[in-house]
Amino acid sequence: MNNNHNIKPTVFVIFGGTGDLNARKLSPALYNLFLDGWLPEQFAIIGTGRTKLTDAEFRTILLADLNEFSRSGKAKKEAWDKFSPHIYYQVSDVKMPAAYEEFSQRLSAFEQEWNAPANVIYYLAVAPEFFPIIATGIAQRHTKDDPTRVRIVIEKPFGHDLESARALNKLLAQSFQECQIYRIDHYLGKETVQNIMAFRFANAIMEPLWNRNSIEHVQISVTEQLGVGDRTGYYDGSGALRDMIQNHLLQLLCLVAMEPPVNFTSDEVRNRKVDVLRAMRRFTPEEVRESAVRGQYGAGWIEGKEVPGYREEKDANPASNTETFAAVKFFVDNWRWQGVPFYVRTGKRMHRSASIISIQFKDVPHVIFPPETGESWQQNRLVISIQPEMSIRLQVQAKRPGLDMMLNTVDMVFDYHGTYAAEAPEAYETLLLDAMLGDQTLFMRGDQVEEAWDLVMPILNSWQGRPSLNFPNYSADSWGPEVAEALIARDGFHWFTLPLKSNDKKKA
Ligand code: NAP
Repeated sequence: MNNNHNIKPTVFVIFGGTGDLNARKLSPALYNLFLDGWLPEQFAIIGTGRTKLTDAEFRTILLADLNEFSRSGKAKKEAWDKFSPHIYYQVSDVKMPAAYEEFSQRLSAFEQEWNAPANVIYYLAVAPEFFPIIATGIAQRHTKDDPTRVRIVIEKPFGHDLESARALNKLLAQSFQECQIYRIDHYLGKETVQNIMAFRFANAIMEPLWNRNSIEHVQISVTEQLGVGDRTGYYDGSGALRDMIQNHLLQLLCLVAMEPPVNFTSDEVRNRKVDVLRAMRRFTPEEVRESAVRGQYGAGWIEGKEVPGYREEKDANPASNTETFAAVKFFVDNWRWQGVPFYVRTGKRMHRSASIISIQFKDVPHVIFPPETGESWQQNRLVISIQPEMSIRLQVQAKRPGLDMMLNTVDMVFDYHGTYAAEAPEAYETLLLDAMLGDQTLFMRGDQVEEAWDLVMPILNSWQGRPSLNFPNYSADSWGPEVAEALIARDGFHWFTLPLKSNDKKKA
């Protein structure tokens, strides 16, 4: 089966071929694209790293990775035998110019063999410190090539702060056109996240309600049960605000708050998203204190196992001031959203892993029922659950069956698993396919990244200037620190969580 005959012959060069991201996400995604017929007839995957491996050894490692991580389960011999000859390995140190020379020789060899020009996608699945040297090395080998054929995919984190993100954008712009740069935010590739656009802009009923007149507040909550694990080295220099809010949560916020684009072209969609970021209220230092809170997890028990606090994790700094939880109340200062608070929160070692957007509508203007009829009266709420449950629920009041007039809240539910038999593709499948197709809609443009950094910088600066005196301030298996409850309770609201369904536990 070949689903897309328009994709040109393609070479993927994966820097970090021996790394965790390739093992868990990239190679399984390419394999599933292959199984579903999305890869062109002529393609090659070159993994690279300093580890000395032959092609055969690399293929064996990837097979084990696929068997462990692919959504399609263990590889079948027939499929693997067709896929694996397309995989190659090159030992190279990205700091050595010879590495780039070898890639360009291999590229020429493939083009000769295929008798066709190839697109080349360089995927930078390596530490950010290597982004500049790799970008420069690649660009020097492609000065004479059609720029639309050469694409560079940059993993997160894109910068450590506004200044470094600007510097990286500037460096990339010296060698590449914006249409060649694919800045990944893998959240944007998730099925349920893409569905926010479909839900908003392919249905007429929501638009009249989608503004300050009907919506009281919005919550975006991305919680993880896992702790930092063995990523302390990276995480300690980052923290929840940089690692999650600056990118994933603000991107979700943009999808909720953006104006309708005129069409579905990548620049039009991204223009509307950047408009939101530009309209978001910047904080003064005093406002940071009122609108942003942080936390760090202590030890506790999760699902019957004792887990360490952040400061006791492997290789952790015992006096670390890094936040593993952050919650912020944002405002979007435009006509549509004036006065509507957007609460976002994210944290590690929380009671449950769940990514949820909750849009709470205003209450009815006048209640005609006696108070005792409403057992669990609640304003209408639209809940978009991104993971583990993939659903959209509209919570409404209904009459409970019976002779008396009693009201309770019921859900009108669109559930992916109940509606569609096909399994949703992984985010990385969507994004790698889009990179092959040259579609940048789900990738971050340079100005988006900079606006998002500009927005969070006052919080980062303020937190850096006043270390927290009470860390750790929430225990593992909780919903975060008390200050986060207070942040939202001050406005008369509380954080929303979906009730756990039995099969979600396994997926979370
Ligand atoms: P990792 O497991 O530590 O892998 C790092 C890779 O870089 C290895 O393949 C290593 O290969 C290679 N490398 C290091 N120094 C090199 C050099 N001088 N020349 C050539 N290759 C070199 O890291 P990762 O978790 O895969 O993460 C990679 C990137 O993806 C990071 O930017 C990370 O922030 C981002 N990311 C990762 C995840 C994830 O789930 N892992 C999620 C989102 C974003 P050798 O040791 O063989 O040289």
